[in-house]
Amino acid sequence: MRRPLPQRGTDWPGLRGQMQSMGEGDVKWRDGKAAVYVFNAGPDVEQVQKEAYALFQSENGLGPVAFPSLKRMEEEVVGFGLTLLHGPEDAAGAITSGGTDSITMAVKAARDFASKARGVAGPLNIVLPRSAHPAFDKACALMEIEVRRTSIRDYLADPAAMSGAADAATVMIVGSAPSFPYGLIDPIGALSDLALARDLWLHVDACVGGYIAPFVRMNGAPVPPFDFELPGVRSISADLHKYGYCAKGASTVFFRSAELRKYMVFDFKDWPGGRMVTPTLAGTRPGGAISAAWAVMNFLGVDGYRAKHALVTQARARIAEGVEALGFTVLGDPQLGILAFTRTDLDCLALWAKLRERGWMTSVTTEPKGLHLMLSPIHAGVATTYLADLKWAMETLAAAAPSLAAPEARYS
Ligand SMILES: *Cc1c(COP(=O)(O)O)cnc(C)c1O
Repeated sequence: MRRPLPQRGTDWPGLRGQMQSMGEGDVKWRDGKAAVYVFNAGPDVEQVQKEAYALFQSENGLGPVAFPSLKRMEEEVVGFGLTLLHGPEDAAGAITSGGTDSITMAVKAARDFASKARGVAGPLNIVLPRSAHPAFDKACALMEIEVRRTSIRDYLADPAAMSGAADAATVMIVGSAPSFPYGLIDPIGALSDLALARDLWLHVDACVGGYIAPFVRMNGAPVPPFDFELPGVRSISADLHKYGYCAKGASTVFFRSAELRKYMVFDFKDWPGGRMVTPTLAGTRPGGAISAAWAVMNFLGVDGYRAKHALVTQARARIAEGVEALGFTVLGDPQLGILAFTRTDLDCLALWAKLRERGWMTSVTTEPKGLHLMLSPIHAGVATTYLADLKWAMETLAAAAPSLAAPEARYS
């Protein structure tokens, strides 16, 4: 819809007021009411994000020669990630604008590796479990690669099904650590074995897990190997703007070697503007996203991440226990920040809607129909309120329509 630009400008205090009132209808994430979209590590981290972003908000990561500051910060952030994820000495990576960007670039690298280094000719395909993120489908739609989604078992990737779907034109197989719908880490060890046996490119989508799993393991949880520790893993995506608690617009993509990373980079000079080399999907790269990531990681350090993630673990354990006491079943054995739970005799989607009346913005699963939470440190303090509100929602729905609470066969 067309809208004329105001003829005269408005002063900043006036605009700030307008924007604040526009935000009044938004989910109250600062109070812990969002368990999707926002990762709330508290006001201390929020302040570092904001001030560090503002310091470099005009600088452009497209120009490493002009901004050696950003180049250095990116190298250090990538180095932190590679160390946390057991990258070999020669491993390499880049900061991207988000998980979708990281995944797109990993798919591009795997495709170019297949066609240039291995001579694989199209039509190409990738094989992924049903629970993998739609970002792979988007990347494959852009690149005209066929997506083969395979069935899952106990909410986890099934290596046998994936092996059956892979063939000579498979440029990538995918495992999630963890998957978004269930919060469970796929059997990456078995996928790594499959990748080695068949010489396949295994990508681990650790977008939501890459910056929490290593610390949860340090805190004592038995998180299985899922990263470059496994020799079949060739690339990993890990989002800084999720459990890295960095400002939005920041993810990382990693490759087992600098040689593999080369297949990601786009290098072009056949136009009148001179040679242009871009490692990721973006041209202009916001300096603020890079500087905020660098600052938050250095602000928290290993100890800070361990402490923040311990709160996430605490919230998850408390909520898992609470929902089980309310008759729900938690899907699988989640170890990180996401959990999904279901009760086949209740309408979980109606519960989700009811909870919105109490301000909760959460998510759902559809196979089976269930409730889904992606937890942040703030939730350790509001878990009890959530459980009380869930109980209220169940009672309210049961009182309004007793039939809804009946047949077991509803979703089966
Ligand atoms: C969030 C997510 C993505 C996509 O990341 P964006 O930053 O939203 O583009 C990919 N995979 C998984 C498992 C995710 O949770």
